[in-house]
Amino acid sequence: MNNERIAKELLKIASLVTGAAFDAAKIQQFRKDFLKLMKNTKVVKNYDQAKEWQKHVGKWSNRFEEYIYRYLIENTLKDMKVDDKIGKREEEYWESRIRSEVWPFTVGFSVPFDADLANDFWTEEQRFDQLQKNLNTWDRSIRGKAQKAWNVLKEFTDWYERLYEKTLDVGEPVVEQMNIEGFDVIMKVPPDSFVNPRDVYQKLKKALSIVKSGAAKYVPKLLKMKVPIVVDLTQKGLDNGGEWKQGKVYVYTTSFYGNDIKGLAHVIAHEFAHALYKHVDSDRWESFISGNYGKLDLRDVLKQYGSQLFLHDNDLIRKRDPMLYLQIGGLYHNPYTKHRFENLLTMDSLRENLDDGGEPVVTVQGKPISGYAGKMPSEAFPEAVGLLVTYGKKALIPDVYNVLTSLL
Ligand SMILES: [Zn+2]
Repeated sequence: MNNERIAKELLKIASLVTGAAFDAAKIQQFRKDFLKLMKNTKVVKNYDQAKEWQKHVGKWSNRFEEYIYRYLIENTLKDMKVDDKIGKREEEYWESRIRSEVWPFTVGFSVPFDADLANDFWTEEQRFDQLQKNLNTWDRSIRGKAQKAWNVLKEFTDWYERLYEKTLDVGEPVVEQMNIEGFDVIMKVPPDSFVNPRDVYQKLKKALSIVKSGAAKYVPKLLKMKVPIVVDLTQKGLDNGGEWKQGKVYVYTTSFYGNDIKGLAHVIAHEFAHALYKHVDSDRWESFISGNYGKLDLRDVLKQYGSQLFLHDNDLIRKRDPMLYLQIGGLYHNPYTKHRFENLLTMDSLRENLDDGGEPVVTVQGKPISGYAGKMPSEAFPEAVGLLVTYGKKALIPDVYNVLTSLL
């Protein structure tokens, strides 16, 4: 297995999502990713690979810790208490059991290797040899600790499911066809649905009414396409809220968490616009988007906003300089920059990266549409249409609006 392939395998983990709601599927996903990372004990062949592996283990650990300590212990248990689902004693019981059994695992899970230690006596090869010697013992010990952590999390999951009278994967989903606000909708509801189907229906109705009136005003073609919408509530733990595939718009469970109806409308309009993209002059759009790239000097960002904590999704930048905010957002989605920026969430990490010789000038969207639109032109189009339909003309900068509407 070469370096590139290892990196590719590992980077899949970067797509992992965390969220506020407790979700057994997320625990499963963490476990799968952990096992994937552990495969590298047998695979790493040199110092560089080990260093790359160490970085990804660190990233996984941060997300896992955040999920367990912040979402599970801080949010979920507290919410259950507030909802009167559990009493103080149960809350304390689970908090202390989870902490005591997960803690040794999270503390021990880092690759035993001083990659960045500047040391004249030790060459990279020697440090890698040392790692090789430690690996077997470390592998056994960390798997033992991990097993204890997974056991307590499984126990918690079973208890949680019983308490909320939910079981996993029991029976066939109910499939219903209906018409909502003029759209053909197919609802797939599993018996253990994580979200309330009635609530989903209400949110969907509101969101579709936004899509309907927005499309009537700006993109009438969209309403003529007769594309069915599949609301698939059997899917959870996915990091995408929706998808355009096989001629249908799919909307998944995660889109119904929370109360962001406009966000839901945006997801739906975005997926519809994928269908529309085939019918417009996509060459013109692509040349507009590629002619639109500009340069951003990250040193300027640090000069102006360096005292802020976050580079990613920074509120002050959003308020003061919405263009810059979207340009920075795009760096986390563009395939050429995303792997670098995934690790640069804070101003401090950016500063360190530049000090270590990271490229200060990066290519960004000159006339940005949204952070996600920075991914590629064929995603920029549905993003722009989704924003226009949901939030109206003001959501797009005038140049983008003019080009887009000339294509529609
Ligand atoms: Zn898309």
